[in-house]
Amino acid sequence: MSVLVFAELDNGSIKKSSLEAIYYGLEVAKAKGSSVTVLAIGESSNEALAIAGKYGATKVLWASDARLNIASIQAYSSVLAEAVNATSAEFVILSKSSLGDAVSARVSAKLKASIVSNVVDLPDFSSGVTVKRSIYTGKAFATVALTADKKVIAIKKNAVNVVEGDGSASVENFAPALNDADFAVKVTGTHKASGQVSLPEADLVVSAGRGLKGPENWGIVEDLANALGAATACSKPVSDLDWRPHHEHVGQTGIKVSPNLYIACGISGAIQHLAGVNSSKVIVVINKDPEAPFFKAADYGIVGDVFDVLPRLTKAIQASK
Ligand code: FAD
Repeated sequence: MSVLVFAELDNGSIKKSSLEAIYYGLEVAKAKGSSVTVLAIGESSNEALAIAGKYGATKVLWASDARLNIASIQAYSSVLAEAVNATSAEFVILSKSSLGDAVSARVSAKLKASIVSNVVDLPDFSSGVTVKRSIYTGKAFATVALTADKKVIAIKKNAVNVVEGDGSASVENFAPALNDADFAVKVTGTHKASGQVSLPEADLVVSAGRGLKGPENWGIVEDLANALGAATACSKPVSDLDWRPHHEHVGQTGIKVSPNLYIACGISGAIQHLAGVNSSKVIVVINKDPEAPFFKAADYGIVGDVFDVLPRLTKAIQASK
């Protein structure tokens, strides 16, 4: 019995959210007296994958077949299912993400496993296996029992406080049996939607709302985002008005983000907006209305005009570099 963590890669490196999953896996392994094996799929290097050891993995299985360099849901699901069987893993841990959702659902169906997503805490082993998950866009929690032999747990970003050690994992080649059906859907190319940083994965997000008055004013938002190395986001009306592309829209009906820092500029803080950003670690709100509801959810608030505050913030950040 072991714990298997599916690690997502970004340019060959293990994503931060997957390092959190590895650390979560370590805590599960400690409770069960077992060890953590990581599965990494696609283009990478031994050095980049050995890093997993710092977060508690003893071994990394690396499926480096060139056909897997572009993520294919079917193929990745087959590889993960095969790795679960090869390692006799009872627990499969991964980060909740678009890829994680698609792969974990398929793998659970293949393995007849219990699956739970949006998990925010370590499992409780006092009576079977139960976990706490976030529901209703973060407004409530549910405790659920995983009763099947194999258990798939997708953790919410920022759910665990990772402590980095100094270990190094061994990296082994993993050559799963893949057939044509695994590549029935072919990804023929990928391109970044916009911006320098991918929004769902971003650690820093600068987001703006109707307070910016129009698309012609987004330069000050982008300047701040560029100075910080942040992704840009927006409220729903902003994308409905076509001021910004729809994939930047965050909230209940848009993308859910959990960055370390979320800077909201000229956004009122409606409940539907908060639903997509309320698991951010630190929220900074800039709004000229001191009564704006967003201030109630803010860790730091600046009462001021975005057209005055944003350029000054950008200048200060550039000067501090
Ligand atoms: P406004 O509400 O117009 O707020 C603009 C803010 O900017 C105000 O607080 C104002 O004080 C401030 N401001 C104005 N000028 C300046 C200035 N110069 N400097 C500083 N501050 C300034 N919304 C989402 O964002 N995401 C969702 O996913 C989403 N889903 C929804 C789903 C449903 C079913 C419904 C009914 C609504 C949904 N909404 C969503 C819309 C939501 O209710 C709000 O209408 C929306 O979030 C408001 O956007 P806003 O804050 O940009 O605009």
